[in-house]
Amino acid sequence: MPELPEVESLAADLRERALGRVIDRADIAEFSVLKTYDPPLAALHGATLTDVTRHGKFLDLITTPASNSGGSSARASSSGDRLPQATTAGDQLHLITHLARGGWLRWREEMPSQPARPGKGPLAFRLRFTDGAGFDLTEAGTRKRLAVYLVHDPAAVPGVASLGPDPLAPDFTADVLGGLLAGRRTQIKGVLRDQKIIAGIGNAYSDEVLHAARMSPFRLASSLTTEDVEALHKVIVETLRSAVERSAGLAASELKKEKKAGLAVHGRTGEKCPVCGDVIREVSFADSALQYCATCQTGGKPLADRRLSRLLK
Ligand SMILES: [Zn+2]
Repeated sequence: MPELPEVESLAADLRERALGRVIDRADIAEFSVLKTYDPPLAALHGATLTDVTRHGKFLDLITTPASNSGGSSARASSSGDRLPQATTAGDQLHLITHLARGGWLRWREEMPSQPARPGKGPLAFRLRFTDGAGFDLTEAGTRKRLAVYLVHDPAAVPGVASLGPDPLAPDFTADVLGGLLAGRRTQIKGVLRDQKIIAGIGNAYSDEVLHAARMSPFRLASSLTTEDVEALHKVIVETLRSAVERSAGLAASELKKEKKAGLAVHGRTGEKCPVCGDVIREVSFADSALQYCATCQTGGKPLADRRLSRLLK
């Protein structure tokens, strides 16, 4: 699943390629993907892509509809002591997407001119600019979890409105992190992944952060000392920042490979810990698994894997 660093890089890649381009059309190839109905996707026709940003793991394409471009400034300057009307923000349309676990964005200089058609393939959504370039959002499997929203205000997307602070924001200090963890009698692994507490960290980077912090994923958040919180804060920022730097300038198609290459423990069960050489272990859950190094993180004691112990009984 794309997490903060990959979505950050997708946003940068799209800014580089597509700012100023005019949207010809946007279509869904799978009905369940589009989570909003007003305004309709047709409202994007003729809109200019003016910025691309990120909210946690949500990608936000900011567009200005054709009818509004350049209208308000002349009126504001001639209005004397009256306040200029705040028209631009409200008139913008935000095309927001969450790529979910298996979704991806694929840029193409030449898009097919016919719109996307519902089908069984990985295609979920297609956007084409008037110059013929564009991108597909794809997700393997018949059940698409990828989500697309078209809204005037990002806060209208429930998952965006409920996001916790962004760990790469300048005001995300160790004190802020300490406040988020204080009193939470839940495992630090789950806390780091909870988008309502901290935005943008998922299963992969929470494994990486905890490995770099030499902290057990099962440690209770409320048990962290001030020093623990400071150390954890440092590795969160460093881990995410270095992942963003590694993927800077890479095209969407190269990001997945780069992400995997940069991970020390996540997805590497059975391989050697790059720090100490111990074998990387795994704890499995119903729909996910975490990886860790016992020597680095749990004093050499393997964590209980309930699925495994059930099998052994
Ligand atoms: Zn290790």
